[in-house]
Amino acid sequence: MALIDNKYLNSSSEELNQVTGTISDIERYAINDGFGLRTTVFLKGCPLRCKWCSNPETQKFHQEMVFFQDKCIGCGACVRLCEYGALDNGLIADRSICDSCNKREKAFKCIEKCYPKCRKIVGDKMTVKEVVDIVKRDMPFYELSGGGVTLSGGEPMSQPEYAYALLKSFCENWIDTAIETCGAGEKHDYELVAPYLKFVFMDLKSCDSSRHLEWTGSDNSRIKENIILMDTLAARYGYDLIIRTPVIPGFNDSEEEIGNIARFVSENLKNYKGMELLPYHKLGRGKYTSLGREYQLADAAVPSDARMLELNKILNEYNIHIYKF
Ligand code: SF4
Ligand code: SF4
Ligand code: SF4
Repeated sequence: MALIDNKYLNSSSEELNQVTGTISDIERYAINDGFGLRTTVFLKGCPLRCKWCSNPETQKFHQEMVFFQDKCIGCGACVRLCEYGALDNGLIADRSICDSCNKREKAFKCIEKCYPKCRKIVGDKMTVKEVVDIVKRDMPFYELSGGGVTLSGGEPMSQPEYAYALLKSFCENWIDTAIETCGAGEKHDYELVAPYLKFVFMDLKSCDSSRHLEWTGSDNSRIKENIILMDTLAARYGYDLIIRTPVIPGFNDSEEEIGNIARFVSENLKNYKGMELLPYHKLGRGKYTSLGREYQLADAAVPSDARMLELNKILNEYNIHIYKF
């Protein structure tokens, strides 16, 4: 394999500790992001725009302000403070003005005066050391449960050098690592992090490239190539690769779509461990409101257990091992 360029490739542990990226959240005691009890680190930024995304606050790379209108007591402090015309009757009328305010003032100016905390910033700059120190707090739980840390997002591979520095540092601290990726990163970035992974959860949302483009904003050609790459590298580095498919009403919840995905997986992958079908859910719906965005799947129905069983039977027909986290 060709030598890969990365400015942190030969960095010392001390240098890696100082690499800084943007995190949208760190969730402790997670049980659905891999084996055992885990700490999930959500990196901000994603190249896709899936219509069903349950973490829309992680999509943009920059800091954003969310507004929980139901907490607002109408004190008017934000209205008195805002000099930029972003508000209309206390509601944010133009978020691009708030983004400029944040750049100019180095803060969303009105947030600290909102005592009920109905305005909140999503997106903290954190060094690798700061993240590792938080993750290390739960070492006893990882040891007891077989858990560890999971990098998620957003798309963690869209901050590739940060993801690399984090994963290498976790390994140096004897913490088991996993990554949840949509597969849309750069090939050489996957090659770079592969030696530092124990589990890889990689999405294949549809084999139909034009539908993929319509529902996620990107076609699937690079994603399919990266899945095959990560399957090949699994043999070299020994991580467990699990392919995940979110089952989305109207997009890929047909026998034909799941069958095409199962066929692609069984025909092209040799070292992967299995697949997980994830039923669509509406948990992220309220986040769209707080971001002032429209939720496009408001009328979609959650797939029933019986329907998920039918779709899982298709994986069985292709002799694919089924996981459920
Ligand atoms: S973040 Fe700035 S521009 Fe936006 S409402 Fe607050 S003070 Fe006004
Ligand atoms: S400062 Fe907070 S509580 Fe007061 S009006 Fe503004 S958003 Fe509502
Ligand atoms: S890949 Fe994940 S984080 Fe990115 S838009 Fe799709 S669902 Fe959201």
